[in-house]
Amino acid sequence: MDPKAPITQDVMTIPRKTIEAGKRNLVGMTRDQMRDALIEMGTPEKQAKMRTGQIWQWIYQWGKRDFADMTNLGKAYRAQLAEHFVIEIPEVVTRQVSEDGTRKYLCRIAGGHEVEVVYIPEEGRGTLCISSQVGCTLTCSFCHTGTQKLVRNLTAGEIIGQVMMARDDLDEWPVPGAPKDETRLLSNIVLMGMGEPLYNFDNVRDAMKIAMDAEGIQLSRRRITLSTSGVVPEIARTAEEIGCLLAISFHATTDDVRDVLVPINKRWNIEELLGALADYPKASNSERITFEYVMLDGVNDSDEDAHRLIDHIKRHNIPAKINLIPFNEWPGAPYKRSSNNRIRAFANIIYQAGYASPIRKTRGEDIMAACGQLKSATERARKSRKQIEAEAGLNT
Ligand code: SAH
Ligand code: SF4
Repeated sequence: MDPKAPITQDVMTIPRKTIEAGKRNLVGMTRDQMRDALIEMGTPEKQAKMRTGQIWQWIYQWGKRDFADMTNLGKAYRAQLAEHFVIEIPEVVTRQVSEDGTRKYLCRIAGGHEVEVVYIPEEGRGTLCISSQVGCTLTCSFCHTGTQKLVRNLTAGEIIGQVMMARDDLDEWPVPGAPKDETRLLSNIVLMGMGEPLYNFDNVRDAMKIAMDAEGIQLSRRRITLSTSGVVPEIARTAEEIGCLLAISFHATTDDVRDVLVPINKRWNIEELLGALADYPKASNSERITFEYVMLDGVNDSDEDAHRLIDHIKRHNIPAKINLIPFNEWPGAPYKRSSNNRIRAFANIIYQAGYASPIRKTRGEDIMAACGQLKSATERARKSRKQIEAEAGLNT
């Protein structure tokens, strides 16, 4: 299916596979972890590195999930692998396709929890927005995810599994011998779904290392963007250990306002955050930092805010672009979206100061695919199912 073609809403439900108990999942292991696991299973030490390389390529380069397909491994070895391991990724529960081609997946992970994944096709590229946690421990006052209780961190396998799931759905695994496809449908990853990625650092790092691995999914570090609310001590680590692009949920220009919108500001304030950001490009050799700025009517959207924002960035000499996000309202949200005129005026001040100031297009509105909207949609679906059952007298 061409993901760019306008398609009407399509919801499907896929029954859940049973998980085989006692077997370890190879998905999400680092190369070293996989090597150790193979040795534990009885693979001779001097073969383990080569076997890891072979299995790695089958899983991440060719998208194989069945050991029987790994034809460069002996039959007996494949059977042994199947006894000890599984190759498993999150299960798609529902998939919706927007009129604009945006795809929203609801995925089920171990324990029955659910996470959202959104695929956004654009001209010549496609971005996958993935989640790092179920819910979030932080309580940003404009974010719906922030009103949900954290259930748990995702494992590295569940994080990279979201990418593998999307490649399945886009039918984008290469076929052996086929020419290399330079224009990928899934060309970029943003860690902008549910959760604070820097509060799940090790798993996010391991998963992104897999995404960047030259013998696997092979995404350049420049095509991966991690968005954080400002966990200052982990920002330098992000540069050193992941090296991807950084987006920062800035959202306010004074500590008083940011303390309310992004409460982690009470722990690390604007000046401390800007200091860490100023060091980031040097440490990671990366390009501009994206400042995300949600436009909230009468709260953070004045001309003075725009000037202060520029002043912060200039004072610290941070290579930056400013991404203005029209607020996505959710039931009970204490804010309103700034008017289009206000957003344009704000963008213009930033642009005049010499910085790119794109206004984020809201995508997939018809399927509630914007930030923080998915969970509410599922909750609504649940409620109505309950209501239906009640009406039918099934829950007595
Ligand atoms: N926890 C990380 C990443 C996930 S949120 C972070 O905060 O950066 C991804 C982006 O969506 C963040 O910039 C977040 O502030 C923004 N966001 C959250 N709720 C939103 C809403 N209702 N409307 C618009 N943007 C929102
Ligand atoms: Fe968590 Fe990010 Fe939402 Fe804040 S904006 S509550 S950090 S997901």
